[in-house]
Amino acid sequence: MAISGSNGPLYDTFERLPLQFDYGEGSRLFTHNGEEYLDFAAGIAVNSLGYSHPHLVEALKSQSKKLWHVSNLYEIPGQFKLGKRLCEISFADRVFFTNSGSEAIECAFKTARRWHYANGEPERIDIITFEGAFHGRTLGAIAASGNEKYTTGFGPKAPGFIQVPFDDFDKLTDAIGKTTAAILIEPVQGEAGIRPIPNNCLRNLRELCNKESIFLIYDEVQCGVGRTGKLFTYEWADSAAPDIMAIAKGIGGGFPLGACLATEKAASAMQPGTHGTTYGGNPLAMAVGNAVLDIILEEGFLENIQRTTLLLTQKLAKITNNYPDLIQEFRGSGLMQGLKCKISNIKIVRAFCDQNLLTAPAGNNVVRLLPPLMISENDICDAYKKMDAALSKIRKSD
Ligand SMILES: *Cc1c(COP(=O)(O)O)cnc(C)c1O
Repeated sequence: MAISGSNGPLYDTFERLPLQFDYGEGSRLFTHNGEEYLDFAAGIAVNSLGYSHPHLVEALKSQSKKLWHVSNLYEIPGQFKLGKRLCEISFADRVFFTNSGSEAIECAFKTARRWHYANGEPERIDIITFEGAFHGRTLGAIAASGNEKYTTGFGPKAPGFIQVPFDDFDKLTDAIGKTTAAILIEPVQGEAGIRPIPNNCLRNLRELCNKESIFLIYDEVQCGVGRTGKLFTYEWADSAAPDIMAIAKGIGGGFPLGACLATEKAASAMQPGTHGTTYGGNPLAMAVGNAVLDIILEEGFLENIQRTTLLLTQKLAKITNNYPDLIQEFRGSGLMQGLKCKISNIKIVRAFCDQNLLTAPAGNNVVRLLPPLMISENDICDAYKKMDAALSKIRKSD
């Protein structure tokens, strides 16, 4: 499929496929001329409840008739409600609402640093992160990832971020010192090519942070809010809860919404004037965020994700077995899966797209599969057929 040569008035930052969608229903998107696509990208893990979910549409519609935006100068009841619910279902005691994942991550950095500052150790500014990490595109977030692809040409890297190898506990402990504020990790690395962190590693990180009196920060922007079959991925590991956590993507179901969650202790230094946002937590976003939680917290919803995950992984095992010349392995957690390719992942994404199946490329030559969380078993079987057709076509043409 040809990449559209011209972005017209738009920055050339995205290499877009020449595809335009008109509307969506459930797990399917439709073009203006009625062509139907099965969506296993879900706006990169954003459209957690697919498209046109009646409960979300109703929540947005009814709120839109009342109030779109008021400033955080005033109380916003939807924030208290969503904040309370997020605290009830997680480790957290306090929540700060944002418009995006990057902003939630920035809030996490500031929360950690400010606590050390307020508790007599202002030199503790370093956030330790892991090779392959992705935390967003703000100057702080690119410095945190340390990936030169993101930092080159944008001036000096913001100080206070240290990267360590992905699975080297000794190097990690060596990196901790008197200037360390926190360790930051994605429980499942997303952009790096779907790399789940084993449960015992998360537990080790938790223990290490306790021992060193530093904060453990999770970036669950992509893997949180049901994506891996638990509400939050860290729940798969016993006793590995963080002190601070960024979420976004899935919690808004398509509405720009993120949040930084923190314990009472971690949030205690974030006093009036230390941080702010104009749009974060506005009434429209809160109406949708609460509606998303209504559905995800329904009895059986997460169990259903675990059931469909089983079918999806069976199908991916079959694909991997049947196409060892094209696919090296599959890996992931829940409905966040990756196919590690032996040929260009972009070529495979396009071949899937030619079969009307949408997926997303990731680092490490991986194709990401991130279907909506309410994906049906029929849709998974349909996706399997499309992948099978695409790969056999590639094989014939090579
Ligand atoms: C997408 C993503 C971000 C950045 O979120 P934005 O909403 O694009 O700012 C941060 N961390 C992870 C793990 C992500 O997947």
